[in-house]
Amino acid sequence: MKLDIQLFAVPFRKVSKTRKRMRRSHNAMEVPGMSKCPSCGEMIKPHRVCSKCGSYKGKVAVVKEEAE
Ligand SMILES: [Zn+2]
Repeated sequence: MKLDIQLFAVPFRKVSKTRKRMRRSHNAMEVPGMSKCPSCGEMIKPHRVCSKCGSYKGKVAVVKEEAE
């Protein structure tokens, strides 16, 4: 009688809770660095024109069109 046995790669030993948690300590999502708009106080990404008031470095760089 012939046995058909398939062999797979199996981990040598169980990964402990500590080792699993240490590996996943680098997996957290990063919060992007944000700064405050000096003219309207909105949280904005640095080195970019404010999307709310259209200012950059305290000057109006983009004239926002009003929706009304
Ligand atoms: Zn602003």
